[in-house]
Amino acid sequence: MAGKPGLAWSILSQKCPRCRRGAMFSNPNPWNLKEMTKMPHNCPVCGQRFELEIGFWYGTAYVSYLLTVVFCGISFVLWWLTIGFSLQDSRFYWWLGINGVLLVLLQPWFMRVSRAMYLYFFVSYDEQYESTPTKTFDYSSEDYFLKKEDPVK
Ligand SMILES: [Zn+2]
Repeated sequence: MAGKPGLAWSILSQKCPRCRRGAMFSNPNPWNLKEMTKMPHNCPVCGQRFELEIGFWYGTAYVSYLLTVVFCGISFVLWWLTIGFSLQDSRFYWWLGINGVLLVLLQPWFMRVSRAMYLYFFVSYDEQYESTPTKTFDYSSEDYFLKKEDPVK
């Protein structure tokens, strides 16, 4: 068995958080817009369910927003360091325009990475993924609520 795949790479390549091997999306190309958000119900490698509960993916809107803000921040700084800003010309507007186009182009990928990051928040890596049960939101798994003491017989 190969070693543990890295966290950052697993998120960026949208691999299942539990085994970090199975692909989260059916079509590897995020720019195929028809299949952009198409995902298998379960991880093809370890069987982990991806949509942990109905409406689970609504929470990714926050992650996606955060990614967008971080991206704009980085692009702003890069532009500033390489091209620079000035009040005397339109460099600032060029940045706005190019940054906007990039945001649109990257949106499908952002959407997928947001889902990956969001799921990684709830499901952690499990080295024994082949032999242990998958993570669920069934409200009775012991790590969801504090484990109740066994009733006295
Ligand atoms: Zn998996």
